[in-house]
Amino acid sequence: MTSIKEKNIYRKIKKYSTIVIARHVGPDPDAIASQIALRDSIKNTFPSKNVYAIGASVSRFKKFGSLDKINNESINNCLLIITDVPTMERVDGIEGIKYKESIKIDHHPCDEKVCDIELVEESSTSACQIISQLIMNTPLKLNKDIASNLFLGIVSDSDRFLIKYTNLKTFKIVANLIEKSEIDFTSLYDKLYERPINEIKFHGFIAQNLEISKNGLASILITPEILKEYNVDASTPSNMINDFNYIKDILVWTFITLDEKNQIFKVNIRSRGPIINDVANSYNGGGHKFASGARCKTQEEVNNMLKDLDKVCKLYKK
Ligand code: AMP
Repeated sequence: MTSIKEKNIYRKIKKYSTIVIARHVGPDPDAIASQIALRDSIKNTFPSKNVYAIGASVSRFKKFGSLDKINNESINNCLLIITDVPTMERVDGIEGIKYKESIKIDHHPCDEKVCDIELVEESSTSACQIISQLIMNTPLKLNKDIASNLFLGIVSDSDRFLIKYTNLKTFKIVANLIEKSEIDFTSLYDKLYERPINEIKFHGFIAQNLEISKNGLASILITPEILKEYNVDASTPSNMINDFNYIKDILVWTFITLDEKNQIFKVNIRSRGPIINDVANSYNGGGHKFASGARCKTQEEVNNMLKDLDKVCKLYKK
């Protein structure tokens, strides 16, 4: 059944001739796939509208489709839609755009209201799952490419249906996508999982060098020298963090990557039980209960964050 929010979102989409769709900085497959799928669905439904999916492009994700380059200063009176991002500070590339109304479609926890209409489902695996529902419940159109992107966003953010938010609804939505668009879904996995051999070697390095505390906190500091040795960039560890789930003796695991260019420690954190986003929030970060990220300015901040995460593990064990 169509919800009131879905009806209102469709009405706004129908009303505006220019629509800009943005997502979070440092995008992952759900962020990219959700904005591209929504853009393509709106364009298919209303061919005369100007619809742009914006933000820095990432070569690894070009397989999902291309992003639009626009002159932000020349965009007035548009509808802004942000996907997979809870706050305006983390939206990529909207500086200078004059939007009249805004819509948020997201699955991150957030107490603050930042858009005129907010379709937020914390219990959803992904932004792509929410957009799939929106398309199914309104006259917005679906085709094979749109369904492929939505499917990959759901698979990626649910970590292949492993995360706790995966439920009957998730599978019903996925089944519906496959049925309606007849996507050959197993052939799509290359787009998500194919990687060069040096990344596998880097993965091996992480496995060999994780430090594990007696409370079950695993951590590793990845320096620019290590990135150079394995010929990977500072965003590569993010793609591997989910692979370290289901390891006995590890409750929470974190990769701390020193990004030399931006002089910041980028932190990925995952958990199999303890709630970690409160700690992430205190270190310039945020995210979900069991999947968060943070940014630390100094080694001292990193050490304090590790101590806090270790405490969370200790409490959970008790
Ligand atoms: P990542 O480890 O980068 O895959 O991020 C895991 C989750 O935490 C995602 O939902 C991100 O949107 C969120 N996240 C990562 N970094 C930050 C940050 N600096 N501030 C707020 N949320 C973040």
